[in-house]
Amino acid sequence: MVKQKVTLPFNTYCQNCNGTGAYSGGAEMEHQAVKCYTCNGTGYVTEIELDVFVNKRHLPLKITEVILERLKEVDVDGKVIRTVRSVSSDIFLEM
Ligand SMILES: [Zn+2]
Repeated sequence: MVKQKVTLPFNTYCQNCNGTGAYSGGAEMEHQAVKCYTCNGTGYVTEIELDVFVNKRHLPLKITEVILERLKEVDVDGKVIRTVRSVSSDIFLEM
């Protein structure tokens, strides 16, 4: 995965410490946190690394169909029948 560093026009919460300025990792005791090295304890950053979009990501395996458009709902003898235009998740991935 290709990542690129970008500078934002505003401050955003540091993802490393969730904006707290300190985090508790495996090296700290349960009651301890250490000053975040990413944001230097401020809780915010203006530069972040983002994944460069290359291709769509795969849907979860349980999703097999993607509805592109809901066409209409008709009431037939009290039963609502919905018609949709849809494609398989494999085809959707290529769209
Ligand atoms: Zn931080």
